[in-house]
Amino acid sequence: MDNGTKNDLKDLVSETASYLEGKKKEGIAFVDSLVSPDATAGSAIKDDISQKTDLFESEKSVSEIETVSGLEELDAMVNRCRRCPLGNLRKNAVFGEGNRNTRLMFIGEAPGFEEDLQGKPFVGRAGRLLTDIITKGMNLKREDVFITNILKCRPPENRNPLPEEISCCEPYLLKQIDFIKPGVICTLGNFAVQTLLQTKDGITKIRGRFFDYRGIKLMPTFHPAYLLRNYSRKNREYVWEDVKKILAEI
Ligand code: SF4
Repeated sequence: MDNGTKNDLKDLVSETASYLEGKKKEGIAFVDSLVSPDATAGSAIKDDISQKTDLFESEKSVSEIETVSGLEELDAMVNRCRRCPLGNLRKNAVFGEGNRNTRLMFIGEAPGFEEDLQGKPFVGRAGRLLTDIITKGMNLKREDVFITNILKCRPPENRNPLPEEISCCEPYLLKQIDFIKPGVICTLGNFAVQTLLQTKDGITKIRGRFFDYRGIKLMPTFHPAYLLRNYSRKNREYVWEDVKKILAEI
């Protein structure tokens, strides 16, 4: 087993143990058997998790999200959410912020270090670039748009979201979109567009044109963090082209 795989496994075990401790505090009985000192850590947890699919999601909490009456209530629900293990690892959930009656929503991937600390979306280095795109490129204020992510809690070490985490968290995003009813959604990076359009196509292939998402125009473009890592003239031109198309629609 290489070091990367070992580290991934260590992260997984640590996240799982932390999540189970949270469940134990909530009084969920089966956790005792999972975290028992008698259990052989790795195999006991692995065997039991495979039989406890509700570790990641429960139909009950999905239907609770469905009955929420407004964004404030949804925000409060996100702040107490433990539907996936990330809920026990975060400092703050990041619901999103901005104009709740906007025509334009930006949807990224997940909170990073700074976002987790502050409970606000896109406030780190990539966030500053997104702010520049909105203010200098689009001549809008950040408060004019709504900014959020697919995941509301930070994955450890900013790793990619897991499919199980996305499927647990997606109902919150869908409800946000229902309440805000934007005319245009700009997805940032691979995960947001792949989740909403249910596609495996990569951002390089599909950026730059509108897709229909439940009657809303959806424009995929590069994530600002990718742009920072690949700050070429060509990539900046691509994003500027995408931004101009969005501006023509709002
Ligand atoms: S990432 Fe989403 S589903 Fe998981 S705990 Fe946070 S708010 Fe809940």
